[in-house]
Amino acid sequence: MVTAVVGANWGDEGKGKITDVLASEADIVIRFQGGANAGHTIKNHYGKFALHTLPSGVFHQNVVNVIGNGVALSADRVAEELKDIMSRGVPAPKLMISDRAQLVMSYHVLFDTLEEARLAGKSFGSTKSGIAPFYSDKYAKTGIQVAELEDLDTLREKVDGILLKKNIMLKHLYHHEELKTDEIMEELRRYKEEIWPYVGDTSGFLYEALKEGKKVLLEGQLGTMKDPDHGIYPMVTSSSTLAGYGAVGAGLPPYEIKKIIAVTKAYSSAVGAGEFVSEIFGDEAEELRRRGGDGGEYGATTGRPRRVGFYDVVASKYGCRLQGATDVALTVLDVLGYLDEIPVCTAYEIDGNITTEFPTTGALMRAKPVWTTLPGWKCDITGIRRYEELPENCRRYIEFIEEQIGFPVTIVSNGPGRDDVIYR
Ligand code: GDP
Repeated sequence: MVTAVVGANWGDEGKGKITDVLASEADIVIRFQGGANAGHTIKNHYGKFALHTLPSGVFHQNVVNVIGNGVALSADRVAEELKDIMSRGVPAPKLMISDRAQLVMSYHVLFDTLEEARLAGKSFGSTKSGIAPFYSDKYAKTGIQVAELEDLDTLREKVDGILLKKNIMLKHLYHHEELKTDEIMEELRRYKEEIWPYVGDTSGFLYEALKEGKKVLLEGQLGTMKDPDHGIYPMVTSSSTLAGYGAVGAGLPPYEIKKIIAVTKAYSSAVGAGEFVSEIFGDEAEELRRRGGDGGEYGATTGRPRRVGFYDVVASKYGCRLQGATDVALTVLDVLGYLDEIPVCTAYEIDGNITTEFPTTGALMRAKPVWTTLPGWKCDITGIRRYEELPENCRRYIEFIEEQIGFPVTIVSNGPGRDDVIYR
């Protein structure tokens, strides 16, 4: 059986923590999209870790961790992260990398960086990890599959062809030094050394595992709002962030995905540019940012301050619907304990009309938040393990959100640790 843990918002909802909790009962944890452009922060008995490429199951010795074909694979990052976690006492994880995943090359990072600089004020707020150039190449059919590392001589001819086009862009659009085949081949040789022992036919492995009744977790990156089809285009990421894409990006039958846990944070946060209707500013925002997450709302990859706001019912309802949520995990609820009153964005006003349907980007740009204010609970709820023991106003907040979004909140997360979780 397959369970997907995916984001219903802009990312950073705490998916890593929820996956880490569920991984203790899983046999296989899979990353199926995205790359090193976003990170999960996980806090467990080994310490606090920011994972960008490794699946969150790496802390569990019983788990096989799979990097699926849909992932933008940064081989250096895989090697670095393995080294980092092992140097901090985590036993060598079981890891499998799809032979059909493609490689993020140094020139993807270079093009990402040059393009952000060229766009200057109009940039997408990319993390400059090479993700957009990577997926552009993948779909333009000029990407490099992991399996191609097997025969570096054949690959050399392909690299020559790739660089011919890249160098025209570098020279004429970016006025940058041209790339050399030898350097790229050196890079590919290094990647082969770093990852080859882990490479295999992951979809074949999953097919057999599912026949044996193994429990599989799909771990999403970012959230619905960053999906290239259903999100706030063009301020989105370059691979689908939806549970449905899990079947493609992992290579498993769609009907096996039985449970879809959409993770939504008890307030909102976003990194980078893009529409964000329930965003707040000034001192009010600064306080939420400082108290938020675990040690403040700052990006796991870039360290950039995240934009923050209150809960957005319109975006989250849409986010859960597109994920196909069977369950909702409401996270980081403990952070709101300082507020006397908690505003919730329950509708948008667009051109004088009130709506609860999430619109396309043009209309979204004109949307203003309609607020409903709920009473706060004014205490620290970390440490509570039973739903009934939560303060009444806190339960009212959870039940209000549940009713508004129309999907069942079955998991509440009230602290960054593995044990800070309440099941309903
Ligand atoms: P992800 O990409 O969705 O996994 O999210 P991130 O890891 O970027 O952001 C979540 C942050 O919130 C991390 O620092 C977590 O340790 C932290 N976190 C997760 N759940 C909770 C929670 O319930 N309470 C608090 N205070 N922090 C949490």
